[in-house]
Amino acid sequence: MNDSEQRQTLLRLCREVCAKGLVCGSGGNISIRCGGDILITPTGRNLGALSENDAVRMRPDGSVYGAGIPSRERHMHCRCYARTDVACVVHVHSTYATALACLPLDPLCAMPVYTPGCAISVGKLPVLPYLRPGSEELAAAAGEVIAGRNSVLLARHGVLTVGSNAEQALNIAEEIEENARIFFILAGRGAGLTEEEQAELTRAY
Ligand SMILES: [Zn+2]
Repeated sequence: MNDSEQRQTLLRLCREVCAKGLVCGSGGNISIRCGGDILITPTGRNLGALSENDAVRMRPDGSVYGAGIPSRERHMHCRCYARTDVACVVHVHSTYATALACLPLDPLCAMPVYTPGCAISVGKLPVLPYLRPGSEELAAAAGEVIAGRNSVLLARHGVLTVGSNAEQALNIAEEIEENARIFFILAGRGAGLTEEEQAELTRAY
């Protein structure tokens, strides 16, 4: 797809993320692959207010050419594209997932897996310790996790997901938010899927 088509895809995704209530204010940033480059949302802007030409074109090393100032979290995005199958990166501070990220959590599994959808597309969600947003430390740590899976929770910060297309990256972010919402609704009651049930689901799909 060419630059203009990819800008349209990014814009559609930004609007969808807003419509689904996954971001507020100028929080969150999204990027997609565009040929050998990356298109990323600009810094300090509400994703719902962007137009096609606001996306910033950058090289995979995070250096920018053309107009615009990219998201401060661009280095975290760039690390995710080290995986050649990744075509889209979504980073949001969605409410329930971020609330979860403020609790003391098992770094290997942030929450029980309640739904089959979450079992299939997320599984055991790991948590990175708090690292300053926009820092090289956060970018490196996130890149390490994303090398082996499609999502990670960032302590006291938010969620990072990747996909082989825009829809997949968004779906994963939604599944995490929904599972986190169920976690708070249940408030310690109920139970998630068992290890066997989760394994059966991942085998079946
Ligand atoms: Zn952030």
